[in-house]
Amino acid sequence: MNRLELFARDEHRCVYCGVVQDVADLSVDHVQPRARGGDGSHGNVVTACRGCNTLKASRSLAHYLAEHPEARRNFFQYARYVYPRHVRAVAEELARRGVGDVSTELVEGIRGQRRSEAIDT
Ligand SMILES: [Zn+2]
Repeated sequence: MNRLELFARDEHRCVYCGVVQDVADLSVDHVQPRARGGDGSHGNVVTACRGCNTLKASRSLAHYLAEHPEARRNFFQYARYVYPRHVRAVAEELARRGVGDVSTELVEGIRGQRRSEAIDT
């Protein structure tokens, strides 16, 4: 999947601020960083606007989400194509960081959506 296909899949919406933006303002963000063994497969990449990607910088996803409640809510709402194991890992790291508002229902909700989409196609 190339970057344009990724942006189309995510409907050109940044998963962190939730804003639909022009392709020129979008970037590819890796959920599991390449430095930590993450690859470019469809379940490890999300659409992020340049502003959010710059703000996130080199922090881990959980570190960034721990500091930005709105980005946290948006991520769990919009990043529904992310591999469930990556979503679980992020939720677990958030819990370790003392973030208590990531409910099991939210994480399971992402997985439920993925299941129903798999059945539809
Ligand atoms: Zn953004």
